[in-house]
Amino acid sequence: MLDLLLTDARLATMDLAIAGPYGAIAAGAVGIRNGRIAFAGPAAEAPPARHVEFLGGRWVTPALIDCHTHLVFGGNRAAEFEARQKGATYEEIARAGGGILSTVQATREASLEDLVESAIGRLETLRRGGVATVEIKSGYGLTPGDEEKLLIAAGEAARVARMRAKRTLLALHALPPEYAHDRAAYVRLVCERTIPDVAARGLADAVDAFCETIGFTLDETRAAFAAAKKHGLDVKLHAEQLSDMKGSMLAAAFSALSADHLEHIDETGVAAMAAAGTVAVLLPGAFYALRETVKPPVALFRRHGVAMALATDLNPGTSPMLSPALAMSMGATLFGLTPEECLGGMTRNAARALGLDHECGVLKKGLAADIAVWSIDHPAELSYWIGHPGPDLLYIAGQKIEER
Ligand SMILES: [Zn+2]
Repeated sequence: MLDLLLTDARLATMDLAIAGPYGAIAAGAVGIRNGRIAFAGPAAEAPPARHVEFLGGRWVTPALIDCHTHLVFGGNRAAEFEARQKGATYEEIARAGGGILSTVQATREASLEDLVESAIGRLETLRRGGVATVEIKSGYGLTPGDEEKLLIAAGEAARVARMRAKRTLLALHALPPEYAHDRAAYVRLVCERTIPDVAARGLADAVDAFCETIGFTLDETRAAFAAAKKHGLDVKLHAEQLSDMKGSMLAAAFSALSADHLEHIDETGVAAMAAAGTVAVLLPGAFYALRETVKPPVALFRRHGVAMALATDLNPGTSPMLSPALAMSMGATLFGLTPEECLGGMTRNAARALGLDHECGVLKKGLAADIAVWSIDHPAELSYWIGHPGPDLLYIAGQKIEER
């Protein structure tokens, strides 16, 4: 006996085992038992249930997954944005104390409670947009203690927002001012203290780095990855966003869950990711906010069979984006993804990018009952509307969390 049956629905299961676009089932139903999907298929074959909800033909999809965010931070950079729009140069903004280090300072000064509270607000906004699972990176604390504070805040905020979360340590995000003249010492601190401490306390699932000419080198990234693997953590990487540093090759060599951004990756990097099964996480919000012009090579990812995910990259500097639907719209319009690739990029492939493909991302028996119900006539509408406001109903682990 099911706990709940959602029926009289059209399903976009996103299950590759079901032939046809979106893995769609026309007259479908989804059954929930003990927080898991116990049935997803033709309504006529559904088992009996204690409660039945008739959806009037609405579309049901897996709940969305935002697999790349930096949503715990102090302050924001709206004043800096305004100054830039009024003509201030990056140099002037940096001299006035702007840029990422201003977020680092505000984050260090913020209490744990303040960080949790502001993060809950952002999580709830994503949730109203249909997100059940979110990845949250650190990277604005940079000292071992401040990175831990940020990861603790991320876990607490997700718990209060009743969302599934994966946490990622991004200590190699920026060089902290106190190490401005000794980057080797900072990398050593991260490898020998921050990573082991965070792993020992179970505060993160993965380690990430900003591998870039203005971030960290390939060798510095390799050292952090080696430390991560030694301490049992997965790895993922900000790679090839502004230049081709071959970070994607390094990520593939470490069997990274994902390499993210990738506007400047070449075909060798794409082939290496394909061989390693590393997911390409595309982040159109940063591309848009930075007014970039070089797009990620979507055709190469398709040709080599690299799974593509999409995420908001929600962060205070380069992608203050609170809408998962806007990420899908931008993925389609700016990067040329199909609407089906966009939805797959925020469900099935986003789950893979977090190592959660056996837990969520597809409407399939056995997975968590993370389910969104939408008032739309076609799943392409989720990328077609420029910032669709979100589903009518959102279930997370079988619990109805949102209802509009
Ligand atoms: Zn990022």
